[in-house]
Amino acid sequence: MTNILVTGGAGYIGSHACKALAAAGFTPVTFDNLVTGWQDAVKFGPFEQGDLLDRARLDEVFAKYQPAAVMHFAALSQVGEAMSQPGRYWSNNVTGSLNLIEAAVAAGCLDFVFSSTCATYGEHDNVVLDEDTPQLPLNAYGASKRAIEDILVDFEAAHGLRHVIFRYFNVAGADPEGEVGEFHRPETHLVPLMLDAIDGKRDALTVFGTDYDTPDGTCIRDYVHVCDLVDAHVLGLNWLREGKGSKVFNLGTGSGFSVREVIDHSKSVTNREVPYEIGPRRAGDCTKLVSGSVRALQELGWKPERSKLDQMIADAWRWHQNGHYEK
Ligand code: UDP
Repeated sequence: MTNILVTGGAGYIGSHACKALAAAGFTPVTFDNLVTGWQDAVKFGPFEQGDLLDRARLDEVFAKYQPAAVMHFAALSQVGEAMSQPGRYWSNNVTGSLNLIEAAVAAGCLDFVFSSTCATYGEHDNVVLDEDTPQLPLNAYGASKRAIEDILVDFEAAHGLRHVIFRYFNVAGADPEGEVGEFHRPETHLVPLMLDAIDGKRDALTVFGTDYDTPDGTCIRDYVHVCDLVDAHVLGLNWLREGKGSKVFNLGTGSGFSVREVIDHSKSVTNREVPYEIGPRRAGDCTKLVSGSVRALQELGWKPERSKLDQMIADAWRWHQNGHYEK
């Protein structure tokens, strides 16, 4: 079996990626510090607890498993927190990734799939966001991810490290078979917060700002199903293994939904009222982030078949009602 080192494999997206890798015949080896991840979510391959800031631990894991490639999901990823604690973002995300990249090169593991974000683009008026759009991040989260992209480019030139960079739009939904799902503590993301509010697990959802320059005044995002997203990662891994070279791909559907539209869809999918109140803008939020790229569809052969908003909410709702992890 071919081992793939999956950092953040105990997290939301990483755990779904492990399931997809195992289904594709790989052995996903999870490396996770369990700060935001859950050991219960590691179900599809071995688990190694460790921190990206611990280079000796990384070297040990590379030596033990001799992975053919790295999929790097582990990161702090909350816009609000990044604005108030930028040092944690630069240290954990950038220094941690640099350690991982150096350990991979030292181990001769030269295929690297990286989770980046549409937050690297920042605010662009009436511009289609494709992979060539200038990256002007508005927050330390996006800035830290852009810096890691730069590191990967330099390490390819110097050391031959090949990379596929995926710039995610907004990931939602859950494994339809219910084995893994989205579970953050604390939770900050729109869809799970809204589902919590719907079934009374928390007070009303706060809508962060209704004075944006959009048709209904709330921010617009491009939501993509986590299962479609991780399918693209398996395609990206095979792309590298087939020697097709380094490439950047947006992962979004090209359809934007406002916060109010997400609330309306959730109401109809769950058949329940969504208690919400209007609050101020959240620092660091862009008005609109929608992918304008078809590169992943055309070049990778990606087929995001579950990424209809109602399907994503229905899958998230099913997980929300039945699934959770415990420390
Ligand atoms: N949002 C909101 N209330 C919340 C959480 C999020 O109105 O409690 C909005 C947020 O301003 C953004 C969208 O929902 O426009 C998606 O936010 P999320 O944190 O889920 O993802 P992000 O866009 O930050 O990656």
